[in-house]
Amino acid sequence: MRIHSTDQSRTSREQSASVTRREFLNGAVAVLGATSIRLPIWAQTSASIAGGSWAAQLLLGVDYYPDQTPEDLWEDDARMMAEVGFTNVRVAEFAWALMEPAEGKFDFAWLRRSLQTLHKHKISVILGTPSAAPPPWLRVKYPEVIEVNAQGLPLHPGGRRFTCPTNQVYRRLSLSMASEMARAFAETPGVIGWQIDNELTLGSSPRCYCNFCQAGFQAWLRSKYGSLDKLNRSWGTVFWSQNYTDFGQVPVPLPSGGDPN
Ligand SMILES: [Zn+2]
Repeated sequence: MRIHSTDQSRTSREQSASVTRREFLNGAVAVLGATSIRLPIWAQTSASIAGGSWAAQLLLGVDYYPDQTPEDLWEDDARMMAEVGFTNVRVAEFAWALMEPAEGKFDFAWLRRSLQTLHKHKISVILGTPSAAPPPWLRVKYPEVIEVNAQGLPLHPGGRRFTCPTNQVYRRLSLSMASEMARAFAETPGVIGWQIDNELTLGSSPRCYCNFCQAGFQAWLRSKYGSLDKLNRSWGTVFWSQNYTDFGQVPVPLPSGGDPN
């Protein structure tokens, strides 16, 4: 595993770096040690360096993935991160499959052990809710949550961000996951904040065109135009014989045999 941002759009930069996370941390400790710089150097504001009693600690941290790291390395990880001056980490934002291995069956024991290890080394934690990466059981059981792209094709699972963010099933399960996390860790020492999803956007396709979104589009049209007569007149649907007689007939603008009317 390499030290890097979680953003997969940065993979080209990651591929050019052959340094592992462990090598990076070891190297950073060695280099700073050779310069006789006292650690941690980054976790102080100028006011706190000057002795100001009011100064707040400046947080400096990284993404950390205990879920992707053998547990016998967690202690080393925490110690080395503390030694280079990190004050906090963000964890769990892609760990849905481990935290809810089956619907309604939650397992936070591994995460609790990881937080205890980090806390022992005075590293605080920002917990990420994992809705950007739904587990396989979810999309198999509820295939309607899959996002449909601008070509009308359902996205393929196997990456992340392949679900429709307005789908009610996906929202219900995301809320359930986040609520269980909150119940499990709200009072846990060292937890200082929450990250709500990884990125509040769709992935490769800027809009979703699934049946659920189509129904939402039709409801919006009904509200905007009030009547089919008004919609048909406004859109000139008599062209190409597209006079709609029910709002449920109105498609979302996907590729057709001609330009969308
Ligand atoms: Zn959708």
